[in-house]
Amino acid sequence: MEPGGCILIKGGRVVDPANNLDETADVLIENGVIRAVGRPEVPSDCRIIDADGLVVAPGLVDMHVHLREPGYEYKGTIASGTRSAAAGGVTSVAAMPNTRPVTDDPSVVGHVLDKARVGGVVNVYPVGAITKGLKGVELTEFGLMLEAGCVAFSDDGATVADAGVMRRALEYARAFGALIIQHAEDPSLVSEGCMNEGVTSSRLGLPGIPAESESIMVDRDIRLVQLTGGRYHVAHLSTAGALEAVAGAQAKGLPVTCEVAPHHFSLTEEAVNGYDTYAKMAPPLRSEFDRKALLEGLARGTVSAIATDHAPHDEDSKKVEFCCAANGVVGLETLLPVSLELVAGGIMTLSQCLALMTWKPARLLGIQRGVLTPGFPADVVLFDLMEAWQVDSGRLHGSARNTPFHGRKVRGRVKKTLVSGKIVFEEEKY
Ligand SMILES: [Zn+2]
Repeated sequence: MEPGGCILIKGGRVVDPANNLDETADVLIENGVIRAVGRPEVPSDCRIIDADGLVVAPGLVDMHVHLREPGYEYKGTIASGTRSAAAGGVTSVAAMPNTRPVTDDPSVVGHVLDKARVGGVVNVYPVGAITKGLKGVELTEFGLMLEAGCVAFSDDGATVADAGVMRRALEYARAFGALIIQHAEDPSLVSEGCMNEGVTSSRLGLPGIPAESESIMVDRDIRLVQLTGGRYHVAHLSTAGALEAVAGAQAKGLPVTCEVAPHHFSLTEEAVNGYDTYAKMAPPLRSEFDRKALLEGLARGTVSAIATDHAPHDEDSKKVEFCCAANGVVGLETLLPVSLELVAGGIMTLSQCLALMTWKPARLLGIQRGVLTPGFPADVVLFDLMEAWQVDSGRLHGSARNTPFHGRKVRGRVKKTLVSGKIVFEEEKY
């Protein structure tokens, strides 16, 4: 379709959580923008997309993605990562800064945005580093980085372990209303650990990482939020203890939020049995107790976003001894179906589930996405809610294969993905 064209997505179940909408309706798109939702008058030259039997929702927003470019193109590129996103119904991604060079100055931000414009098929929003080189010492220039296009700050992959540095980061961010995203793992407690500490790690003979490595860091940071008033977000929260701390901070009215990853609420440390390196990530898969706590946190509204921590790896980084294997799993193409298990399991409604992957993360990042409001960019996903399929690592659309969900039977199949009114993914017919 040419950008100036008209598209009518007809007769689908339109679920737009931000507008509290869940009903059969048409979505009219003109010039890449949502024009109307309901039963609009349709220009005669409008292309019709039949959405009968499908859910029509805002394109998903994933606030935690590693695109690997620049510097690690052998693991993934902006082109391959955004292709995975489109196949997963994800139309906006926040790109983490642990690239080479690190996204720690405006020129790298500009480079990522340029690459995304040329080779990317979905919207890419760079996250800037909190500290230069992710070294945890010297703050980056938040103001200049925001001007260049950053939407938040994080040293993700590394933890801002020094309390003084975190204090200054929160103070500095507060001046701009910017969001600080912490990868919360106390390095001294992680030490040589490579999976969750517990019965399973003992049985497998692998060094463990205690849950307290996360909760202690989150506890500390919340005290610094209290001191500074900075906006603070816990990336890929994985433990009951950290969740309790976040809930407590929210009850006090502090600007504290968190995201959880599908692998953390749907898998446990048991997945490491057999030393499967595709089940290795940081923070690690936790206990069933922690997983259940995450489900409760999702149901209660303590969690503000479901984010994948999509982290493609080359095979050489994973086909090694468990503790030597790189951390990280791909997740963009399984985000929707695995999250829909929360709906099937009665944890939340479809609208609540989609809210965690659309307007809620968009609001945290301050981006105008994740809604079907007239006048907004026409980022839309069409999916079959009930279609069953089996995850096959060999058939993912990105370059990497490292999914922990290989073989999992899921429901919910993305049929079409549109970014600003342009179709960027259509399900292949076999
Ligand atoms: Zn992380």
